[in-house]
Amino acid sequence: MGRPLSSALRLTDRVYRTAKASIKTMSASPSSELPQTQNSPQRAKCLFCRICDGLEPSNIVHQDEEFVVFPDIRPAAPHHYLVLTREHITDAKCLTKEHIPIVEKMTALSKEVLITQGGSTDTARLGFHWPPFHSVSHLHLHIIAPESEMGLIGRAMFKSNSFWFVTPEKVIEQLQKA
Ligand SMILES: [Zn+2]
Ligand SMILES: [Zn+2]
Repeated sequence: MGRPLSSALRLTDRVYRTAKASIKTMSASPSSELPQTQNSPQRAKCLFCRICDGLEPSNIVHQDEEFVVFPDIRPAAPHHYLVLTREHITDAKCLTKEHIPIVEKMTALSKEVLITQGGSTDTARLGFHWPPFHSVSHLHLHIIAPESEMGLIGRAMFKSNSFWFVTPEKVIEQLQKA
């Protein structure tokens, strides 16, 4: 349990990489401005786009026109889900004021899914990875519950409003100021 955070992050990276995710797009963020097509090379390279497009297996628990939700492959607690935008947005740092409704919808949806899956929002931790501390460069909101069952590594990796993990409320607050 005494593993430092950095090695925990590296471990997550490795797991995602084995799923053939390309994280080379991390520095090529302007792509989020471009119109997306189902067959764009960008989407073909992004693990999360491929999951949204049904090209990679995952246990999707909710999907609609805008979002896809599935369990984290390394859950930090009994309930741990990722809410993705179908659109490829690189990360929370790429968001602008216009994205505030999207962040609000992601937040509401994450709570709905948690409840549907039998979790409680009272004990949930929510947040976005803050660049460069993310393993897959495709915007996703984590919802984890209950907090009391998170281990030490999970607590460190998903530490609310740290340099690397930011709550939706904080993201919205920042966007409103921008
Ligand atoms: Zn993507
Ligand atoms: Zn993540």
